[in-house]
Amino acid sequence: MSEEKSRSPLERLKQYYDHEELTCSECGYEDADGEWHSETDGSRVHYYHECPRCDAVDEHTIRLSNE
Ligand SMILES: [Zn+2]
Repeated sequence: MSEEKSRSPLERLKQYYDHEELTCSECGYEDADGEWHSETDGSRVHYYHECPRCDAVDEHTIRLSNE
């Protein structure tokens, strides 16, 4: 029963973004209730956050390093 230990680096990264970067880079709105969405195609993870005020989208794409 140690599910929390199976947390992947990607989930930790998502948590980091959830805490650190929910402020819109366009209008400065802080989306306190927002979250990053993630999509993956197996080799990359695409995170994005859409500002509820101005609809700007902040994105991060992270390459997975699976050989
Ligand atoms: Zn905005």
